[in-house]
Amino acid sequence: MTSTPASDGERALAGALDGVRAFVLDADGVLMWRGEPIEGSAEALQTLRRRRIPYRVVTNFSTAHRQTLAASFGRATGLVVEGAEIITGASAAAAYTARRHPGARLLVLAAPDALREWEGQHVVSPEDAVAGSEPVAAVVIGDAGDGLSFRNLDIAYGQLHAGAEFVAIHRNLWWMTPKGHTLDSGALIVGLEAALGRRAVVCGKPSPVVFRQAVAELSAEVRSRGESPLRRRDVAMIGDDPVADIAAARRVGLRGILVLTGKVDAAAAAAAATARGRPDAIAASLADVIEAAGGP
Ligand SMILES: [Mg+2]
Repeated sequence: MTSTPASDGERALAGALDGVRAFVLDADGVLMWRGEPIEGSAEALQTLRRRRIPYRVVTNFSTAHRQTLAASFGRATGLVVEGAEIITGASAAAAYTARRHPGARLLVLAAPDALREWEGQHVVSPEDAVAGSEPVAAVVIGDAGDGLSFRNLDIAYGQLHAGAEFVAIHRNLWWMTPKGHTLDSGALIVGLEAALGRRAVVCGKPSPVVFRQAVAELSAEVRSRGESPLRRRDVAMIGDDPVADIAAARRVGLRGILVLTGKVDAAAAAAAATARGRPDAIAASLADVIEAAGGP
């Protein structure tokens, strides 16, 4: 299906998508908003599948395993997404420790369901971390809820002080919940960083780690089909956050398309279009992006 671009905006969008072979999609503000599906997003996913264009949904939501998240997306919005098509801050952190510390002891403070991302890796409890004669190879800290007790954080601090690598699932300081502004685990990361005098490796957005993980998975998928290797410029990030999605993706070489179905309206998007790390194009919605990308 081809259509003649009618406006400057449509021409700019089609031009920005020229040569794109894979997509990284933000979840909140692109596929869904306030728990409701965004109009046209389910059809856009179906179109990507029909055209066999690989994609990953990248989200910092990290209290659940990707399979749980896929099921809850489906229940809440009717969107069909496979667990393997999702990358969370937690799954990116698990892939990071698997690559950097294969077989080594790890202390991971994460929600029990998210902890399943480390299946097959050598995760020890805080008690076992203390009992070992050597520090663990890495300490990973995420949204563990009451698992982020003073006792557990102090054990984590001790392991980090003794030389463990410091890995954060994300560094968000607060977030909005039904009860209003709520403290997020990033605030505890910042406290540990101050105590240690060094920064954590952050794995969720806007860190390059999560975008590199997405490109690695998309590249593997393309390779398994015998297609030519994927370059970062062949991948477009579709997001609603000009900084955490768009500028962050562009910093690692992906293209960035800002959509107006979430955090920013047209006026804020226009302001972002002149800022550093500006989007390659602005589109009304994911549906418009997929239509402009063209194809059968
Ligand atoms: Mg978003």
